[in-house]
Amino acid sequence: MATGVDDCTRAAGGSRDARLPRRVVELGVEKAFEVLAAARRLEAAGRTVIHLEAGEPDFPTPPHIVEAGIQALRDGLTTYTQSSGIQPLRVAIAESMLERGVLAQSDNVVVTPGSKLALFHVLTALLEPGDEVLLPDPGYPAYAAVTTFAGGVSVPYIVDPDTGVDVDAIASRIGPRTRILVINSPHNPTGHALDEPALERLAELAERHDLMVLSDEIYRQLSFDGVPPVSIASLPGMAARTVIVDGFSKAYAMTGWRLGYGVMPIWLADAVGKLMNNSAACVAPFVQVAGIAALQGPQDAVHAMRDEFRLRRDLIVARLNTIPGVHCATPGGAFYVFPDMRAALKGATADGVADALLYERGVGCLAGTAFGDAGHGYLRFSYVRSRADLSTAMDRVEAEIRAL
Ligand code: PLP
Repeated sequence: MATGVDDCTRAAGGSRDARLPRRVVELGVEKAFEVLAAARRLEAAGRTVIHLEAGEPDFPTPPHIVEAGIQALRDGLTTYTQSSGIQPLRVAIAESMLERGVLAQSDNVVVTPGSKLALFHVLTALLEPGDEVLLPDPGYPAYAAVTTFAGGVSVPYIVDPDTGVDVDAIASRIGPRTRILVINSPHNPTGHALDEPALERLAELAERHDLMVLSDEIYRQLSFDGVPPVSIASLPGMAARTVIVDGFSKAYAMTGWRLGYGVMPIWLADAVGKLMNNSAACVAPFVQVAGIAALQGPQDAVHAMRDEFRLRRDLIVARLNTIPGVHCATPGGAFYVFPDMRAALKGATADGVADALLYERGVGCLAGTAFGDAGHGYLRFSYVRSRADLSTAMDRVEAEIRAL
């Protein structure tokens, strides 16, 4: 019996693909959202799932940030703002760049609904049809999806969970059409962080070949080995050719608030501001005020979350490495592990194992192929659940592997 619109037969359904442009039909999507939706359907049917699929902290947004947002609503901040963001937040973001050794002004900053839209607008603003974008494989799926959507061509470079990035391999892929180098440190999905010598060599390549660099630093505050990684924008001359993409989702546990930003040369910030004007118009003002509280308020909740993620990392890495045939590198940051399952699969695929884990054993995770061709034979677990849940989940992973 139909109980609501979602239960009705889709009267206007059927395939619309024939009427959609190719670039839309072929637009990639982030698999994490699909697996999360499948897990939610299982839960609605009474099953329990340990959610290790989505890149979303299980901690609440720190209370002082929530209060700042609520107070802003009570103060009547419910209207449109400037498309590039309210001035106090742009200033706060520009000031926060000093910690990375980057000199920025408010004019360099564009505030966006999530860093994902900053990525989208920056790539859309920069790419001419046929321009090439060097991007990590495995890597955050939106880089390749948006590159193709914007008429560009993805040129993947490998990020090895154990050894990271081979700068010479990147150099060998640069050609006359290369326009942008995308880097992500700490990296989703491997957790690998680029060290300063690698960044210096990448900066030198960018200078020599006149590339723009899109530096996705969203996991910067979730770095486990002492100081956060260096920002490539802090290296001599690099601020003029770098876009730092960052946001509040991960470090401040604010995924659903949708608040991110880009810091970039003014000519590009103006263009991205125009795209914001024509797309989201602006970020909700009370959300922007909450962002100021996040940046300028106490940071102890961020440090406590990071410390807990480090304990979880140690637990999950150690546990995965006890499973026969599984090899898991120790990530330097973010909250992901990307174990190499190839020696454990015995003819099965990591995609099949990911499905079995969800549907038969109640553990949500992603197959490495969700992050590019180099992900074949790997799984990604987000360690965004308690240590007790992680232990239970790893017992189930071991049982699944032993049953292959
Ligand atoms: N960049 C990377 C590397 C990510 O992993 C994510 C989210 O998972 C994002 C950007 C987008 O985050 P948000 O749009 O929530 O700021």
